[in-house]
Amino acid sequence: MTCFLIDGQTALDAGSLTEALPLSAQRRIRRVVLTHAHLDHVASLPFLLENLYGRREPLEVIAPAPVLATLRRELFNGKLWPDFTRLPSRAAPTLAYRAIVPGRAFRAGGLSWTALPVDHIVPAYGYGVAKTGRAVLFSGDTEPTERLWAYARRVTNLKAIFLEVSFSDSQAAVAQASCHLTPRQLPAELAKAPERVPVYLYHMKPPSLPRIRREVEALREPRLRLLESERSFRF
Ligand SMILES: [Zn+2]
Ligand SMILES: [Zn+2]
Repeated sequence: MTCFLIDGQTALDAGSLTEALPLSAQRRIRRVVLTHAHLDHVASLPFLLENLYGRREPLEVIAPAPVLATLRRELFNGKLWPDFTRLPSRAAPTLAYRAIVPGRAFRAGGLSWTALPVDHIVPAYGYGVAKTGRAVLFSGDTEPTERLWAYARRVTNLKAIFLEVSFSDSQAAVAQASCHLTPRQLPAELAKAPERVPVYLYHMKPPSLPRIRREVEALREPRLRLLESERSFRF
């Protein structure tokens, strides 16, 4: 279940924030930027909000409008989970939605973010995250895509690419049906990115992991490495 803690106060996706972080670290989170509304990316949001309940500052949930609409309608709808935009009160809520416009840079946590539409079975976005003179790129969930790579080519000093690979090549049919990548598709995607930028693969479905590992090794592409849980990077 995907989540990246960007700077201690900002998370990208919320698949397992409450499982990964102690309460004290959860309470420091001010905002969560979402790639899309699939459960493996938002599953811990309901419990994070419970753990932040009563905090003076609401948790900001940031994403393009279609993602927020799904959360409102399908999750925080008063049936599956409470609508935390009115709890404890409308004046001082636990949750505040912030809709952002794809392709247009926005500020979050002292960084410049850009949502980049990718190609998944539901509306989904990768993110470029930039500071003066450097940037990193997160793909979110996607099948072969274009706008993500256009950003990778134009941004200054790209330090790392975090790219999804979900299934092994033996499950190409499932991957195609669910709009995900398999190792065989990676060389063509990488060809659209600037050379020599390290690529950290993530979002491997656990049962597929051993096969994905072998298939990625067989590609003999030195830029590619499998991302491990709990790793930290400084860019
Ligand atoms: Zn997804
Ligand atoms: Zn996913």
